[in-house]
Amino acid sequence: MFECYGKKLLRIDLSTRSVAEEPLREPFIERWIGGMGFGVKLFTNEVPATADPLGPANRIYISVGPLTGTLAPLFAQTCIVTKSPLTGGIINTYAGGHLGGSIKATGYDVIAIEGQADGLVYVLVTPAGVRIVDCPELAGTPVRTAEEAVKRASGTEDLHTLGIGLAGENCVRYASVISETRAFGRGGVGAVFGSKNLKALGVAGIGDVRVADPEGFSVAVGEAYQTFQEDLAQPWSLLGSFGRVGTGSGMGLINEKHALATRHHRLTRFEQAEQISGQAIAEQYPTRPIACLGCQVHCGMLHRQVKTKWGEIWTRGPEYETTYSLGSLCFNDDPEVLLKANDLAEEYGMDTLSLGVSIAFAMECAERGILPRDALGGDPVLEFGNPGATIRLIDMIAHRDGVGDMLAEGVRRASRRVGSGSDAFALEVKGMEFAAWMPERMRGIAVTFATSNRGACHKRAPIGMELMDVIPMDGIHGRAALVADIQNKVNAIFTLVACRFAEFTLPLEQFVALLNTATGMNYTEERFMGLGEAIWNLERLYNLAAGIDGSEDRLPDICFQVPADFPADAKPLTREDFATLLDDYYSTRGWDGQGRPTPERLAALGLRAS
Ligand code: SF4
Repeated sequence: MFECYGKKLLRIDLSTRSVAEEPLREPFIERWIGGMGFGVKLFTNEVPATADPLGPANRIYISVGPLTGTLAPLFAQTCIVTKSPLTGGIINTYAGGHLGGSIKATGYDVIAIEGQADGLVYVLVTPAGVRIVDCPELAGTPVRTAEEAVKRASGTEDLHTLGIGLAGENCVRYASVISETRAFGRGGVGAVFGSKNLKALGVAGIGDVRVADPEGFSVAVGEAYQTFQEDLAQPWSLLGSFGRVGTGSGMGLINEKHALATRHHRLTRFEQAEQISGQAIAEQYPTRPIACLGCQVHCGMLHRQVKTKWGEIWTRGPEYETTYSLGSLCFNDDPEVLLKANDLAEEYGMDTLSLGVSIAFAMECAERGILPRDALGGDPVLEFGNPGATIRLIDMIAHRDGVGDMLAEGVRRASRRVGSGSDAFALEVKGMEFAAWMPERMRGIAVTFATSNRGACHKRAPIGMELMDVIPMDGIHGRAALVADIQNKVNAIFTLVACRFAEFTLPLEQFVALLNTATGMNYTEERFMGLGEAIWNLERLYNLAAGIDGSEDRLPDICFQVPADFPADAKPLTREDFATLLDDYYSTRGWDGQGRPTPERLAALGLRAS
């Protein structure tokens, strides 16, 4: 059993510049499987709820799963768990590409980073050992520059990296960690790297991955591959459209359904959506699809030698979420602005969702007279639909310059700073900015944003079912239970570590078949789902201890106002409906009326209250 694990954790203490290996015991592996399970369990055991996210007591857990590096398709992701500087609670975040396979080949299932270096460093984990290298010369450099320097210094061909740019070094609270063509986007993990003076990590390994039941695993992989192929062959396939033009392919449908948050949620449709959709960008610019290790979907899009008014650029994406946050939300209809903004966000290392929401918040404040329209120096004017204002603000935020310093704190802290009732329209939950969806229109999104342990997160919502009319967008009956079920399921598959898109297509039984044949364990679907629920509760307990209680399961006032173009035949979100949804959610979860897991439910999940 457990042949597909290295059964080891690598601990790197940046304060003492020491490294140590620790065994991962088989009962621990069987209980938590890998990826998110390993990260959440280790984090909640080791990081005090009172720890400052940007202080030395916070730790970073980078983990892979039992299927990483195997032939199973869509299992190339790597998981990072740490304490979020945005929310003060636990954050789990994922990126694909080739990093996971490299970590797996080192023989470590988890790399844990703790302490704080006394100057800027990068870390190399290679067959030659672990090295912590001073790199003052990389201060302020773009992520790509740091990646290239680390690769050159390693002397190995197969090194894969993750690193931060200026935003991470400046502890912008939504700084991301970039891994080559992919991003650990949400929650400010890049700021945690920056607080530790960790510029980059490079990993290369030489090990291969064995599985417990090669024959059974081969059958399970073949079936999973076939399932994805059959989906991709359908003209309606969402994954198929991702593979052709990227995740921005759904913008037309979302706009048609009046679910495209526009002009800071004042509108539900963007007249110029067609200009910034995935299809439009793929048609206008040289585009090449790219894939994570072993994936047949290849949803990533590279755009080379794009001539913009800001010069020639070479960029990736933009993903759908970015076309919302820096596009429709800011009323930007020029695809060049999106490509340039995306390029800058990757250069500086910032989550494009929180970044775009913060910029749109500033534009909204200027329109209401709360912030001066000349806050950017007069030219460009701070206003919706001004591309120059978007690009200028990205620079100011990364450098923490002027109003950019306030926006680098995220919209919750910025609204406290500007006052004037701006918290009512600050698009955040638990301190994390909204993802690209409208609680005003979609009840599943209302529940998911309000209850997610990460803040206003869309990763565990019934988005496809609501958009495709499988269930009514504004229906509340059974919606909370459906959301809880998806939260449990996505947590479970994140222990493997699956791409989020795999859940669109692959049935639960195929995830479990891959798990059991790779590891030799004997999980049932019920036990697998129970693991997802246990992880959810473990995160909740941690957040409660960190002071994030049921009062944070909320939505800002703006979600209960009716956008100007709200469809006449649809039902706006009411406070009464939202209260019903939250009650249903707590009761489905077996939590009390304040959103605290009950001792009975915890006991049933094999957890304790503290
Ligand atoms: S679907 Fe996209 S993000 Fe997911 S594994 Fe494939 S290429 Fe990576």
